[in-house]
Amino acid sequence: MLKLYNTLTRKKEVFKPIKKGNVGMYNCGPTVYWYQHIGNLKAYIFADLLRRVLEFNKYKVKQVINVTDVGHLTSDADEGEDKIEKAAKREGKTAREIADYYFKLFLEDLKKLEIKNPDVWSKATEHIKEQINLIKKLEEKGYTYRTSDGIYFDTSKLDDYGKLAKLKKEGLKAGARVSIGEKKNKTDFALWKFSSEPGKRQQEWQSPWGLGFPGWHIECSAMSMKYLGEYFDIHTGGVDHIPVHHTNEIAQSEAATGKKFVNYWMHEEFLTFKGEKVSKSKGGLYTISELEKSGYSALAYRYFILSGSYRKQIDFSLEILKNAQNSLERLRNIIQEFEDDKKENSSYLKEFEKAINDDLNTPLALQVLWKLIRDKKAEGKIGTIRKMDSVLGLRLLEKEKIEIPEEIEKLAEEREKARKKSNWKLADELREKIKKKKWQIDDSDSGYKIRKI
Ligand code: AMP
Ligand code: ZN
Repeated sequence: MLKLYNTLTRKKEVFKPIKKGNVGMYNCGPTVYWYQHIGNLKAYIFADLLRRVLEFNKYKVKQVINVTDVGHLTSDADEGEDKIEKAAKREGKTAREIADYYFKLFLEDLKKLEIKNPDVWSKATEHIKEQINLIKKLEEKGYTYRTSDGIYFDTSKLDDYGKLAKLKKEGLKAGARVSIGEKKNKTDFALWKFSSEPGKRQQEWQSPWGLGFPGWHIECSAMSMKYLGEYFDIHTGGVDHIPVHHTNEIAQSEAATGKKFVNYWMHEEFLTFKGEKVSKSKGGLYTISELEKSGYSALAYRYFILSGSYRKQIDFSLEILKNAQNSLERLRNIIQEFEDDKKENSSYLKEFEKAINDDLNTPLALQVLWKLIRDKKAEGKIGTIRKMDSVLGLRLLEKEKIEIPEEIEKLAEEREKARKKSNWKLADELREKIKKKKWQIDDSDSGYKIRKI
């Protein structure tokens, strides 16, 4: 029995699929205008974990993740510049180049984090027709109105607008303190934005309402419905999506189809640093590549995230990451010593299943793993760990102790000597020589480390 916390009802519920044995799942994806920081990546570790848990429960999952490559403005409230266009100006590249470049880097990070590829990556710019059709449908049903800068959704037309976030109706009316321009209600949002100076934007399309581009929310409704149908099982994102993005997705989807959109809405909490949300606007803390350069592995970060509940904030520090890395290395080293007796241990597997099926309780699942590893009498360790790792995705059976060739060890020693004599030129040359042979030296206060690249 799999239980999942549903933001819609604020309860843990027994998961029941719409179609027996199958799950349709949509995860709100990245806006590809900049590096994804480790906070963003937490959202995809969560989505991947959920998919793996569903698969552990023998469901056939169809997973869709969108790629926002147009329409996301610097303010979620339909104001400011388009993030992609802004980045293109900043970097002197085309909007397409920006989106492709950051998407490629994102995919590399996912691979390092053992995050599986979804069945569909859907890009907003490749689904303009679907978005226009959905807006047309809303227009026909009388949910839209026009202002001088776009076509807007009239949220006052829906009795249950804001049900996901439990927004209070009174707060939604055009308040005196908030300037809402030509909008009728504070919460109304753009479905289509007109190009303010036609021909100036790199990405703009013809539509029944004029030249322009889609608003941010409409892409997720149009693309999820295209690939998963008008009514599907699970939709996820970070908690920041609850009050605006997901609230608006529900409003426009249910207004267009006249029926329920999604059964289970699931949200992961933030990664924080010194108690504050890690966000792109504040610089974003680290990327995976930056962590790697400092000697931490991507999977150490995954382990760190899994050691907390997805529904609780988790505070990042390099010190805790180091502990996570040590734990993971220790796990792998111990596991290496086990013989594969080709069995599985059903009692440990049951305990593990109970943990993950209780709303993805990974801290408890890791405890079960550690208990199994320390249990001297337990049989079927390797087989059981393999199954557990199909959910955890930590490459637990991978050999950690990589043999470093003697030649590399010698070069590293020579380099260390050069460094001690402050012969930086020689030290750098040796580092390059080692790099050419596909090894990397990482220096730290306690000495140096050699790792494969
Ligand atoms: P973006 O690329 O900015 O659209 O964000 C991608 C995803 O990352 C969204 O689902 C956000 O909710 C999520 N996100 C952003 N910041 C954090 C954070 N500090 N911790 C966890 N998730 C985050
Ligand atoms: Zn979305």
